[in-house]
Amino acid sequence: MPVIRVALSVPVDTLFDYQADDASEQDIGARACVPFGKKKLTGVIVAVGTETQIAVEKLKPAHCIFREIKPLPAALLDLFHFCSQYYHHPLGMVIMNGLPVKLRNNKAAILKRNPHDDCYVLTATGASIDLSSIPARNRVARSLLNEFQHANTLTALQVKQISPRAVKLVPEWIRLGWITVQPISAARVTGTAKIPALNSEQASAVDAITASNQQFDTWLLHGVTGSGKTEVYLRIIEPMLTQDKQTLVLIPEISLTPQLEAVFRNRFPAVPLVSLHSGLNDTERLSGWLQAQSGEAKIILGTRLAVFTPLPTLGLIIVDEEQDSSFKQQDGLRYSARDLAIFRGKQANIPVVLGSATPSLESYHHALTGRYRHVRLLSRAVQNAALPSIRCIDTRINKTQDGLSQPLLQALDQCLKEKHQSLIFLNRRGYAPVLLCKSCGWSAACQRCSSRLVVHLRDKKLSCHHCGHQAQFPRACPQCGNQDITPFGQGTQRVEETLAAHFPAARILRIDRDSTRRKHAWQEILHAIQTQQVDILIGTQLLAKGHDFPNLALVGILNADNALYSTDFRASERLFAQLMQVAGRAGRANVAGHVLIQTEFPEHPLYQSLKQHDYDALAQTLLAERKIAGFPPYVYQALLRAEAHDIRIVLDFLDQAKQLAQSLEIVELFDPVPAQMVRLKGLERGHVLVQSASRKHLQAFLTGWYEKLMTLPSQKVRWVLDVDPLEF
Ligand code: ADP
Ligand code: ZN
Ligand code: ZN
Repeated sequence: MPVIRVALSVPVDTLFDYQADDASEQDIGARACVPFGKKKLTGVIVAVGTETQIAVEKLKPAHCIFREIKPLPAALLDLFHFCSQYYHHPLGMVIMNGLPVKLRNNKAAILKRNPHDDCYVLTATGASIDLSSIPARNRVARSLLNEFQHANTLTALQVKQISPRAVKLVPEWIRLGWITVQPISAARVTGTAKIPALNSEQASAVDAITASNQQFDTWLLHGVTGSGKTEVYLRIIEPMLTQDKQTLVLIPEISLTPQLEAVFRNRFPAVPLVSLHSGLNDTERLSGWLQAQSGEAKIILGTRLAVFTPLPTLGLIIVDEEQDSSFKQQDGLRYSARDLAIFRGKQANIPVVLGSATPSLESYHHALTGRYRHVRLLSRAVQNAALPSIRCIDTRINKTQDGLSQPLLQALDQCLKEKHQSLIFLNRRGYAPVLLCKSCGWSAACQRCSSRLVVHLRDKKLSCHHCGHQAQFPRACPQCGNQDITPFGQGTQRVEETLAAHFPAARILRIDRDSTRRKHAWQEILHAIQTQQVDILIGTQLLAKGHDFPNLALVGILNADNALYSTDFRASERLFAQLMQVAGRAGRANVAGHVLIQTEFPEHPLYQSLKQHDYDALAQTLLAERKIAGFPPYVYQALLRAEAHDIRIVLDFLDQAKQLAQSLEIVELFDPVPAQMVRLKGLERGHVLVQSASRKHLQAFLTGWYEKLMTLPSQKVRWVLDVDPLEF
């Protein structure tokens, strides 16, 4: 009598056995719907056998096995096993977290896709249509035509990914003769896009990586901003396509997806590409996932969750902006997609390319010690584009008014006169970070978090940027009754207001999470910038990464000093990466770039290295500091995180947990402490830090500790292990 062993998404580290008469070995990796207590649950079959520890009379029959899609391949199940072991998280939760939402419920997946996808090619008539002749309210039609005019060829799936409504336009456009249908196989690998000749640095990077294409290696592609890393990616993907292999490209969880997607489609218009990111609905995600699983999609572009995609013919993995912290999931299963990508590379014996202008110190360290292979691009790719000049404005001498100093205002003025674009970078959205009573010192705080409420003047609200809580504007100070309560400090909205007053003729555009919430906001914004409809941009980190704005000549950086003296040992590394990124937006084409940093600490080594564009100098300094202090990459860390309604319960729990730990000689175990931000979303949080110079020792310790932790009563406490934590 066959027995299936099923991994279910329940918070215990066990697998569950069920009787399934029709099961065979072929069903390993398939989903099964089974009774669980009074409920039905769907999980994944990880083994099929005849034996079980469960008494025959207690063994329940499974409801059904879903066979409408292929079972998960063994390599993917191995990845899930590794992930469960390494992050000490129940296998069932790991697997179900990694599947598309549509495969987590108790239903068969409905497959609507046509395996013989067509693609559509723009005709000369279609190419001649002026985009602006389509009414702006007809957004879908506009973006579809725009995509066609850029890419020339789009597959049916690509059209669908633009918008499900775009699909409905296709028959009409064929009738109008704007596009024609063509089977996918007739199309070429590379498109008509102009392909630049590689410079010598790029060429040696491409040669080195493609030469080792049949074996595992982790490559650190370390290239200054604008050095043409994307072109290197395209060139190393090309041989994969001709060999009919898949490439997985992981990118940070940011607005950059559509832009990179467009670049890839433009170069490889007829190559089936799926993009898997948080902007998709569940049906779209499932459809992309299935295309990847069938091997049909050749390029899989996705954010961190895409690392769990089944890829039967995987030939190459690229992780762009590898230092970005969004590759690490910050709740539930706290995995690092970058690190799992390296595991996958090793598993499939293929190269993994980590790209960055400012690698994480971990990766940089590995490159220096020879564990990763280091390839560098030291100059900008576009001819005559030099790295921008970077200067500090000492705000102790040049006092700021409403956050802006005279030298910065003058530079903006100059830039406007020269008809170049400028960018003001301020990593703080809203109008002002604090609402303050000048007579008693009261400030508006969030009741659910240890944080202040941010003033959003436009909608007359106070808002918590951690939990989303919103409050009305108080008419008077709730503490002393004083009516003179004022916004204090600068947010992007206030800087926008100030700049509008200074430069009434300038076209100013603010780009932060508030201004980009609408679905197509990003595309419109990028279009406006690229067509020179904007003079001054004001943006948060959203704007810092990756975007290519050829006419941007000036970048002003406000309020960066806070991070210089943070208690977080990674703060300097992050600030440097972020400022390099923002500075890197300037002077990318034929316009010389200038960067002005307003600071009270112009002599700080971080700004000194930044001025020289000297990543290595700062990285060496930080590495030396970390070595002395015993921080990563010289030690491996894990946190036991716990949260409850009261910090005392949390610390009690953590005390007990610490007492359970044994064999302390192989790891260093610290005392329980409250988290840096104690209250978050109404819960209070604390942790215990464990570290060791040996990853193996740390893992061995965690395995034993985890088993014991599972026996602790924890009704009042939620806890989780966070391996290689990034936040404290
Ligand atoms: P990075 O990602 O390294 O910051 P990008 O890949 O965005 O840089 O490239 C910067 C610019 O350089 C882009 O406009 C790109 O088209 C251009 N570029 C890349 N390679 C070349 C090359 N070999 N010749 C000319 N221009 C290039
Ligand atoms: Zn007051
Ligand atoms: Zn809050």
